[in-house]
Amino acid sequence: MRIDVLGVGFDNLTLKEAVEKASRLRGGYVVTPNPEIVWMARKDGKLRQALHDASMVLPDGIGIIYGARMLSRPLKSRVPGIDFASAFIEKLASENKKIFLFGAKPGVAELAAEKLKEKYTGLDICGTAHGYSTDDVPVIAAINEAKPDFLLVCLGAPKQEIWMHEHAGKVSAGLMAGLGGVLDVYAGVAERAPEAWRRAGFEWLYRLIKQPSRFKRMLKLPLFLFAVIGQRIRDD
Ligand code: UDP
Repeated sequence: MRIDVLGVGFDNLTLKEAVEKASRLRGGYVVTPNPEIVWMARKDGKLRQALHDASMVLPDGIGIIYGARMLSRPLKSRVPGIDFASAFIEKLASENKKIFLFGAKPGVAELAAEKLKEKYTGLDICGTAHGYSTDDVPVIAAINEAKPDFLLVCLGAPKQEIWMHEHAGKVSAGLMAGLGGVLDVYAGVAERAPEAWRRAGFEWLYRLIKQPSRFKRMLKLPLFLFAVIGQRIRDD
């Protein structure tokens, strides 16, 4: 049973439960929609289907938590994609499992791999590929050759969700997850908000200050909230 927020169903899980569920999944993919992605899905049928068919849908972003609460269907907690990825990678490292990093600009995945190997001893990074190739075939061949237990797909939304939907079942990966800019953060080319900002629910504001070019994207957040209010009125 998923919790519906404007047509996107979310799994009601804590971070710990999400990692436990991920360990049991075989061959599917995880998505981590924020309000911007939910807003996009209203107009983009391919994205909507990709979100619907995911094995696990995690609420990334405080806006989803507020939205669910306003609709009287509260979710247990926010599970940001990067927190999920880090906790799952830590578990995989302790089991000497393999991960593959796919996405971001050329060189970023390799840098992220170095940093991750320093942080998680035992982690096997079995391959990397940047996210700007016009031909998927060599990337898929590399993934299928490496057979990772976990494939991080970091192409931004909606590209990563549609990519996973199209390729689920065709790539030999234990599990895939669409994780936006996490390779940039792991590589150190993008910064996450300090803990206090995150706890206060202001990670989005921090990212906006650091990257003002995100402003247009963030205009979707008030649109999302107005749509939630509209839904609430219709539900009452
Ligand atoms: N990206 C990519 N291929 C593309 C478009 C984007 O690999 O064709 C990468 C981009 O370099 C960045 C990530 O996808 O690393 C998207 O990051 P963003 O911060 O926009 O994602 P968010 O975390 O906000 O979802």
